[in-house]
Amino acid sequence: MRGNTVAARQTEVLICGAGPAGLALAIELGSRGIDCIVVERNDRVGYAPRAKTTHTRTREHFRRWGIANDLATAAPFGLDYPSDVHFVTRLSGYSLAIIRDAFNCAPGRNELYAEHSQWIPQYRVEEVLRTHAGSLATVDILFEHEFVSAGQDETGVTCHIRDIRAASRIDIECHYLVGADGARSAIRDLIGAQMQGRYGLAHAYNIVFRAPGLAAMHAHGPGIMYWQTNPDVPGMIGPMDKDDLWYFMPGKIPGLDRIDLATAADLIRRATGIDVPYEVLSADEWAASEFIADKYSDRRIFLIGDACHLHPPTGGYGMNMGISDAVDLGWKMAAVLRNWGGKYLLGSYEQERRPVHRRVIDAALSNFSTVSLHLAIPPAIEEDSQEGAAVRAEVGARLADGRLQEFRSLGVMLGCSYDASPITASEPGGRPDDPSMRDYEPTARPGARAPHGWLSDGRSLYDLFGPGFTLLSFGHGPDLECQRAEADAASSGIPLTTVRIDDGKIAALYEQRLALIRPDQHVAWRGNLWEGPRILMRATGQLNSAD
Ligand SMILES: Cc1cc2nc3c(=O)[nH]c(=O)nc-3n(C[C@H](O)[C@H](O)[C@H](O)COP(=O)(O)OP(=O)(O)OC[C@H]3O[C@@H](n4cnc5c(N)ncnc54)[C@H](O)[C@@H]3O)c2cc1C
Repeated sequence: MRGNTVAARQTEVLICGAGPAGLALAIELGSRGIDCIVVERNDRVGYAPRAKTTHTRTREHFRRWGIANDLATAAPFGLDYPSDVHFVTRLSGYSLAIIRDAFNCAPGRNELYAEHSQWIPQYRVEEVLRTHAGSLATVDILFEHEFVSAGQDETGVTCHIRDIRAASRIDIECHYLVGADGARSAIRDLIGAQMQGRYGLAHAYNIVFRAPGLAAMHAHGPGIMYWQTNPDVPGMIGPMDKDDLWYFMPGKIPGLDRIDLATAADLIRRATGIDVPYEVLSADEWAASEFIADKYSDRRIFLIGDACHLHPPTGGYGMNMGISDAVDLGWKMAAVLRNWGGKYLLGSYEQERRPVHRRVIDAALSNFSTVSLHLAIPPAIEEDSQEGAAVRAEVGARLADGRLQEFRSLGVMLGCSYDASPITASEPGGRPDDPSMRDYEPTARPGARAPHGWLSDGRSLYDLFGPGFTLLSFGHGPDLECQRAEADAASSGIPLTTVRIDDGKIAALYEQRLALIRPDQHVAWRGNLWEGPRILMRATGQLNSAD
């Protein structure tokens, strides 16, 4: 650092890290007029060519932010490109099985959700998020700025930031600091949180390469993943972006300890059986682990995204989960900063998200265990013989069945619920202990994601929700109830939109005449009569279940 140059700034929230979680938080706060600064040590977003699956739920948030179409436009192969998963012996070899429309990426309307999933590289998702965050008047993104340390007291947090290019120091004072700084989070260390779990369930490589014409040189048809299943070089390969960009994730290769830029091209050629020039652009080693932090916050400092949870990428949940963390924390932090959020609201962030993280990590681990179905494959699988055909039929059936849960998981994407949250209204009865990971059953029980429906005029129900709370009122009659709710909200400064829905199909999903929806589209309460200010006080953390 040059000299002792210290500049000082103030903001309401300092976010460390401009990955998907940090950028989503900046949008959630910025779209509510909260002043925030994002510091990112890199000179741009999108260094990591990792995630490719943006789930339905994440795209619903993009729709709420007004950028779902921007994400669609950024799709490298267009939205109509099929999200099929092919199980093959090799790219040049036999087809074993196909799972169509993996992850529900097919465009078109589905009653269950407002947005389908999308296959798109993480760096493109981040660019869409960055552009939108940067367009918000109260968001400032500082690249080449590194978080160094911080101290907090009852009034705020003082953070020391290094301006890498200017080699100087900036002190930023804020009300809240959020660590969206990924797997090696410095903020996690700062608050003394420990990751608990297991490191190194497997070590793998993510190799990105260019191979002109490769897509036209195999006979399996378009797809997003080709799981090459053979005894020689098993692993996954697939197209990543325009200009013949592909990715390759080999499994454990007998006799090969290390893969580097020099050896990767030959390995890809051997794995595919297709001889084209392979230009290897990167070969990153990564470890699949299972970790969850033992605490997510310390007073004014919070963790979101990979900073507090890590799991194998099978199912494509990590980035999506980090964005949902940002959504949960974002509206709550904005509510507290604008004085309508109560003393229990920020504490509910960990109480709501931890059980969801545990459930999703378990789903990812379960998916991960099925990858072993590609190992110990008999050599005959590649033979042009009766025995070879029999092995292929048997392995294909095993893969199509055994690996299906990874690619059909609406229950994980849409079924996360905050029913045990202290700010969720209680209802008698309960949800099933273990709701299906695969299938999603809409429910309007408090805590659940609000059941979705398409209105007769073609709009999504979600398009009617306001930026704060929304009271849905079904059918004829209780306008008085809405007026009472509006009066209660106005007297406590809680933003509330009331919406009348005259649609029997959607009303049936909610089962009662009124439903209070939170800013993150989860149900806070439902009933037939407005029960007074306590409903809103609980939903905004001014009361909790014990009060
Ligand atoms: C092979 C692979 C495939 C994957 N596929 C999927 C998928 O399909 N779908 C999915 O949802 N997830 C997937 N994931 C997981 C996903 O990539 C991560 O969960 C996601 O990137 C986490 O986002 P984040 O914002 O929490 O952290 P990160 O993306 O790690 O971002 C953290 C940011 O903080 C910055 N930073 C760190 N320290 C500091 C500091 N001190 N000062 C300033 N800046 C700092 C970093 O530079 C970085 O930009 C995959 C992961 C792997 C390894």
